[in-house]
Amino acid sequence: MIKDKVIIITGASSGIGEASARLLASKGAKIVLGARRTDQLQRIAEEIEAAGGQAVYAKLDVTSQADNDAIVSLAKDSFGRLDATFLNAGLMPNSMLSALKTDDWHQTVDVNIKGVLNGVAAVLPTFTAQKGGHILATSSVAGLKAYPGGAVYGGTKWFLRDFMEVLRMETAMEGTHIRATTIYPAAINTELLHTISDKGVADAMGGLYAKYGISADRIARVVEFAIDQPDDTVINEFTVGPANQPW
Ligand code: NDP
Repeated sequence: MIKDKVIIITGASSGIGEASARLLASKGAKIVLGARRTDQLQRIAEEIEAAGGQAVYAKLDVTSQADNDAIVSLAKDSFGRLDATFLNAGLMPNSMLSALKTDDWHQTVDVNIKGVLNGVAAVLPTFTAQKGGHILATSSVAGLKAYPGGAVYGGTKWFLRDFMEVLRMETAMEGTHIRATTIYPAAINTELLHTISDKGVADAMGGLYAKYGISADRIARVVEFAIDQPDDTVINEFTVGPANQPW
């Protein structure tokens, strides 16, 4: 059941995170929004409240452990408990390796990998103590299939497949039964392409998204479905893409 669940969403200021926040709040969840753009978060939280839902927000840079710990405290202080966290923040500054965009490489690892590690470290003590909780993460089809230009981004998303699966197995072994769900979206029309600093790559990917992109709402529906399962049931992996996707 979604109603009354307290759910943190990272990367909630746009795209998949925003769509998930709005949908889950409309089903009665209590949402804790995190991202760096607090003006966006404030607007989304106010609109959720105006529609009869409940939401609070905090400035969150996922590369900071302190920020991740603080948003867990905000969830508990605001709503008295924590049931799930959707580790969704990410960027995709694709480029050919020969372009040597090493700042992009390191930032992608910091946000897409270390940001998830920080988010998991922040919730694990709570979920372990209460013997339950749900951790969801946004990987990508780029975490299942390699493509030129996506070596570093894809690598960060491949990492999530291993990490989330081991997380599920270890918590099952330890009897804490933390549910781990990984989502592998294809082309979703969000602000993600704005994170590409290489103009040629950005233009090419823009063309691909124009042809194959689908709405972030489609991923929100999957997030809703995964969280809505009974507590003794976990859906490990979802791949979600457009019906016309040929790859
Ligand atoms: P958006 O660019 O719309 O959203 C990305 C979100 O991540 C924003 O809310 C942004 O907020 C947040 N973010 C970025 N850096 C940080 C940071 N350092 N700390 C906290 N938040 C951060 O794109 P999407 O909604 O598409 O992206 C969401 C996830 O989905 C990403 O992990 C992406 O890799 C994945 N994905 C997307 C696909 C697509 O086609 N769109 C396909 C497959 C996977 P802010 O800038 O305010 O901090």
